[in-house]
Amino acid sequence: MVQNLSKVVAQDQKFLNIINGRQVPALSQETITVLCPSDGLAFTSIPASRAEDVDHAVRAARAAFDNGLWSRMAAVERGRLLTKLGHLIEQNSEELAALESRDTGKPIRQGRADVAAAMRYYEFYGGAADKIHGDTIPFNEGYTALTLREPHGVVAGIIPWNYPMQIMARVVGAALAMGNTLVIKPAEDASLSTIRIGELAIEAGFPDGVLNIVTGYGRDAGAALSAHAGVDYLTFTGSPATGTAIQQAAATNNRGVTMELGGKSPQIVFADADIEKALPVLVNAIIQNGGQTCSAGSRVLIERSIYNDVAGALADRFAKLVAGPHDSDLDLGAMINPAQKRRVEAYVSAATEAGIELVARGTIAGDAPATGYYVSPVLFGSVDPSAVIAQEEVFGPVLSLFSFNDENDAIRLANGTEYGLVAGVWTRDGARQHRVAKRVRAGQVYINAYGAGGGIELPFGGFKKSGHGREKGFEALYDMSATKTIVFRHD
Ligand code: ADP
Repeated sequence: MVQNLSKVVAQDQKFLNIINGRQVPALSQETITVLCPSDGLAFTSIPASRAEDVDHAVRAARAAFDNGLWSRMAAVERGRLLTKLGHLIEQNSEELAALESRDTGKPIRQGRADVAAAMRYYEFYGGAADKIHGDTIPFNEGYTALTLREPHGVVAGIIPWNYPMQIMARVVGAALAMGNTLVIKPAEDASLSTIRIGELAIEAGFPDGVLNIVTGYGRDAGAALSAHAGVDYLTFTGSPATGTAIQQAAATNNRGVTMELGGKSPQIVFADADIEKALPVLVNAIIQNGGQTCSAGSRVLIERSIYNDVAGALADRFAKLVAGPHDSDLDLGAMINPAQKRRVEAYVSAATEAGIELVARGTIAGDAPATGYYVSPVLFGSVDPSAVIAQEEVFGPVLSLFSFNDENDAIRLANGTEYGLVAGVWTRDGARQHRVAKRVRAGQVYINAYGAGGGIELPFGGFKKSGHGREKGFEALYDMSATKTIVFRHD
């Protein structure tokens, strides 16, 4: 166990890019100061990479792809290396959890959950590497036709700051299992665990250039990577606006993309639901990671006859929620940066000024440093479905409640935003479970449950503005490869 979470980074510890198996600073030697969201204090730095660093990394990934050491390695051996990386993460799990927690401000137990999920990704994709295969296709007499699943080549993975370790793991696991090589660009606000896992990959014995990591600002390193002609495929998780910019850059080279762009996910609570079972899940779905979760359940739709009871029970729970430092391990930590804190606060004050009923509010721990980026959780009631707070992704601990009249009304409300990532449905009626699951436009639908984070095996991705392509599970292996058809004539 790491006894003192703020001691997780040693005085002389350096966080550097990883290019071609070596740890290197940015060519300019410039750095970005790393601040802990819990107190706003600097504790280390990362390279502020630019286009020239990105170019080195892409060239290293290209050379590693072309030399075939990775792409032509027996799939079982690729899988073994991914599994070995998972084991190294397990051996360093407390350090990684503490690092992630200090870097992002998330409570330490969430850091531990993230490490556990990351390990599972490497285990899953390590095991899957030699279990994905093509087809043989009935074709004309005198021919045999078959398909191979081939790697794209060099994949770029642009990672957000909310769950860096988990999102890196799902990208690295699927891309490398299929024989691609990678350049990862973590978010400028949360790069430390990515770098540490890159170091562990060197220790595991991945060939040089297979997994490159370049840190830096989105407008510099991220933009250069998205537009680089040496990249064959891109995968991105983050905001819709940045997703558009990345797709436009990728389009200049006509490259394929996987986009996971957030949501405004509903949970529908019917009058026949097991409310006691639902309540903690409804709260956790918006409070986990301070609501900075793509799949956050930010809208709860409640059947009118039970609206007052459910709203009252949620209000009781919200009033008891406490935000505080990552090492205090409270209900939620700080927001990632001052801009995110201001953004959440602006949504809350605009909604309040628009006359939306603020039903309950949590608190910020008395001993939380004033220099930390805390916001208290907020519950809004009887929200008009056309209100800004009902339509836009806040990415903070803000939950909106709505009432509905019947099943059709619930589905209309659930589908009534531009997003379509995840949905929850709470009802004991089996036929209704099936009907609603089919009619809700979301990439994942949970019945009497909610939660995407842990589901390593479950395909994940959006409809509509939430993006396209699928991550996680076997589906990600299809995104991370291209089908080649081979036809033999033998008449
Ligand atoms: P936020 O706005 O909350 O920082 P983003 O979706 O913009 O979230 O960031 C997710 C990732 O995208 C980060 O790694 C960030 O550096 C990167 N990024 C931001 N802007 C760009 C861009 N124009 N091109 C490529 N990557 C970018």
